[in-house]
Amino acid sequence: DALLIQASNHDYEVVFEAGVRHRLSEHIKKAYTSIHIISDEQVAGLYLSSIVKSLEADHQVHTSIVPAGEASKSMEQYQYLLDRCVESKMDRNSLIIALGGGMIGDLAGFVASTYLRGVEFWQMPTTILAHDSSVGGKVAINHPAGKNLIGSFYNPAKVVYDIETLATLPDHELRSGYGEVVKHAMLSDKEWLFDLLNSRIDTLTKDHISNDLRKGIRVKADIVEQDEREHGIRKHLNLGHTLAHALEAELGYGTVTHGEAVAVGILFAMQLSKDILHSDLPVDDYVNWLGKNHYPMKVLKEVSPEVLVKRMKWDKKAVDGKIHYILLEQIGTPILHQISDKELHRHLNRFYSEVV
Ligand code: NAD
Ligand code: ZN
Repeated sequence: DALLIQASNHDYEVVFEAGVRHRLSEHIKKAYTSIHIISDEQVAGLYLSSIVKSLEADHQVHTSIVPAGEASKSMEQYQYLLDRCVESKMDRNSLIIALGGGMIGDLAGFVASTYLRGVEFWQMPTTILAHDSSVGGKVAINHPAGKNLIGSFYNPAKVVYDIETLATLPDHELRSGYGEVVKHAMLSDKEWLFDLLNSRIDTLTKDHISNDLRKGIRVKADIVEQDEREHGIRKHLNLGHTLAHALEAELGYGTVTHGEAVAVGILFAMQLSKDILHSDLPVDDYVNWLGKNHYPMKVLKEVSPEVLVKRMKWDKKAVDGKIHYILLEQIGTPILHQISDKELHRHLNRFYSEVV
């Protein structure tokens, strides 16, 4: 059954239902004047027609499709989608449905947050990673100068997860999604973490995945409910992300997936936690898990520690020359730690000599 998330302006449900795309109509309890489904080419090719079919008997439906990939989180596609909203005469009682992964959720959510000063939107996540992006209310597009520079906080009215759609995800997208799942486990629950580390992602059953997604969403929701605007504990969700963002930026977005970079970043955060806080963490089990699931540790070879530290200093999490790092006192107990770039460089050098 559904999870309930309490946001500042309204509560919303996260529904998990295999095959729900074929009967989406049953979940629509309001008389929307029209429904505008936004998707990318890849996802639309697989799932759009069944959703349109399930809605068009009772609703006026419009669809818009943008190219797949991070490049579509752009001013250009944003403008295109606003034009489509105007053309299809959407009014304040219309609904936007974001059908796709985090890219579509962020883009369509930003359209929904600004068109007519905000229309309702639903997230229909089709990736594992989107268990993370579909809750929490951050929506954005990218600017050439950086990711997610233009955006807002805007919560969906509902999140509808059809876990059947996850069956068509390629391996690197499974790995990417599980990078964020493992992060949520590290932030919350030792037993769950060990259960994850004992399994291979490509052999998980649908039920197992669905259970992991629920747990991950609950962890994120518990944090975001207390700190929606990221003044405090929401920063804990950045575990593994300082290094990940630097890696992604230096390698070029798309070279590694976001969650794969996060998984690599978590290993360094664990090592730092051991060195600085003397935390007792299952580093060997984690390294093992990364290996058996083919996480691309070797990408580290392509970027030097110097370059990474420089990039981390530029990251928005650096204040007064100190880099804010999320460390783990133990599994389930993250803390925010300030570290100088010099110190970070020293630890990263050591990490490279041991791991890379
Ligand atoms: P994505 O949406 O680009 O999807 C990855 C690829 O998988 C795409 O090519 C897509 O077409 C394809 N795909 C999606 N669903 C599929 C399916 N069921 N079967 C086959 N292929 C499918 O990427 P993502 O990893 O889901 O999300 C990454 C984005 O999410 C980034 O833009 C990131 O900034 C954003 N994000 C946002 C938040 C947030 O809180 N708003 C959090 C994390 C990430
Ligand atoms: Zn992330």
